[in-house]
Amino acid sequence: MRAALMWTINDFHAYAMLSGWSTKGKFACPCCNYGTNSHYLKHSRKMCYMDHRVFLPIDHPWRSNKRSFNGINEFRPPPPFLKGTDMLNSLHDFENVFGKKSKRSIDGPWKKRSIFFELPYW
Ligand SMILES: [Zn+2]
Repeated sequence: MRAALMWTINDFHAYAMLSGWSTKGKFACPCCNYGTNSHYLKHSRKMCYMDHRVFLPIDHPWRSNKRSFNGINEFRPPPPFLKGTDMLNSLHDFENVFGKKSKRSIDGPWKKRSIFFELPYW
C-alpha cells in the first residue's frame, strides 16, 4: 500500500508548525515571503504588516487612495512568488535545533526544516 499527503486544512498557527515558516516577526507573511513589508510599532511593541495593496490590479482605485491607508500611493509590483526549488535550496543545509531557542538565534523566516521536505514528492 502507498499513501500520499495531498493537502492539509489548518489555521495559521498550524501552518507555521507544519511548514516551518515562522508566521511571527519580520517575515510573517508567507505570500510576501522575503518581501514582507513589516513595520515595528514602537509604542505598542507589535509588528504591523501593511502594503498588501501591491497584490491589487495596478489600476485598482485603492492603490491611489492615500487617505484610507498609509498616506502613500502604492504602485509597486507584488513580491516575487517563492518557488519550491528556491525553498528547497534555502533549506538544503538547514539544521533543526530542538528545544527552546533564543529569539536572536533565528535570523530568517524558517524555524525548522519540516519533515514534509523528506517526502520524495514534496
Ligand atoms: Zn503579505
